Amino acid sequence: MRSKLPQVGTTIFTIMTRMAQAHNAINLSQGFPDFDCPEALRERVAFYLNDRRNQYAPMTGVAELREQIAAKVGSLYGCQVDADQEITVTSGATEALFDAIQATVGAGDQVIMFDPAYDSYDPAVRLAGGEPVHIPMLQPDTERGWAIDWERVAGQINARTRLIIINSPHNPSGSVLARQDLDTLAELIRDRDILVLSDEVYEHMVFAGGRHESVLCHAELKEKSFAVFSFGKTYHATGWKAAYCVAPPALSTEFRKVHQFVTFTSTSFIQYAIADFLRDCPDHHLQLPDFYQQKRDTFCRLIADSRFTFTPSAGTYFQCVDYSAISDMPDMEFVSWLCRDKGVAAIPLSPFYEQAPDTRIIRFCFCKDDSTLEAAAHILRSL
Ligand code: PMP
Ligand code: GLN
Repeated sequence: MRSKLPQVGTTIFTIMTRMAQAHNAINLSQGFPDFDCPEALRERVAFYLNDRRNQYAPMTGVAELREQIAAKVGSLYGCQVDADQEITVTSGATEALFDAIQATVGAGDQVIMFDPAYDSYDPAVRLAGGEPVHIPMLQPDTERGWAIDWERVAGQINARTRLIIINSPHNPSGSVLARQDLDTLAELIRDRDILVLSDEVYEHMVFAGGRHESVLCHAELKEKSFAVFSFGKTYHATGWKAAYCVAPPALSTEFRKVHQFVTFTSTSFIQYAIADFLRDCPDHHLQLPDFYQQKRDTFCRLIADSRFTFTPSAGTYFQCVDYSAISDMPDMEFVSWLCRDKGVAAIPLSPFYEQAPDTRIIRFCFCKDDSTLEAAAHILRSL
């Protein structure tokens, strides 16, 4: 059969988690916690399941949930968003990203993304008939570390550029964008017909007292952006696939034209439950930066004496490390060896690139119980 995505195989997350299971390895590859979501939230989910909220939720999302999201976004990012016209609940951020791309990108349109780029962006652009334009981020050993080279972006923007995808805090690098980055982006697309898709699923994982710079805080960018968030990350419940997109009314209208035919709506009782939890525990997210920073610090301390070299992540629940002092195997070969022979699963960086640089960097996920991190680090220190 003729493939619409001939270059695409199975995602690296599925490959590595399967490999971890097959070899009974400690799984620090695919990003998901091995601890549970808040008990009060689980209780609400059970309540609404048993309350028989088991039929279709409204297409744009349960009203109570959209209202709570509007309140959260208002208090967190200081912006007014209309719950009816600007918020759409989706089945995971993956769906929201896909919907935004299908809604805006057509044949021949170019979409700028930054490598290493989350692996769903490129195929979604291709399925829309668009042309992905991959711009490599600066490498971690450069003066600015992982960062966007805006001069290079300026050189790539042209009349066919339709969308720019940013992701901060950034998976897999763990870097975060600064206000200055958003200002530069706003300047570059001013008076042009270019939109922004801002993947902010790790919004609550910014460390060292840093602040997450949402496009929603940026008056100019907010008017031309789809901002995507995920309850899966915020509530340690990746399996629920519950997320949302905030965008101005005109963009949300187009977004919903796609959403209604991709999933139509998302799981009903989970939406009611999250609405209650947001109302009853509006401060839950305030504990997340410290909680995850402790995880990062624990993991970094545990591998400090290893032969891996790294700079602690500024955000996300991922830590990239350089293994060149241990091996010169290519990254896919190295993670396979590490998983099969040593019992720790990680994610190679090359699948996130159109053209992978000749570096030796892999990603570990540290949103794990301390005992899991200790067991993994014990092995990593022995390499
Ligand atoms: N964007 C990024 C950068 C991610 O790391 C993830 C993964 N979890 C997603 C989007 C998808 O989120 P969800 O599980 O809500 O679909
Ligand atoms: N976002 C997760 C990660 O980066 C994986 C999501 C998925 O498996 N699709 O590990």
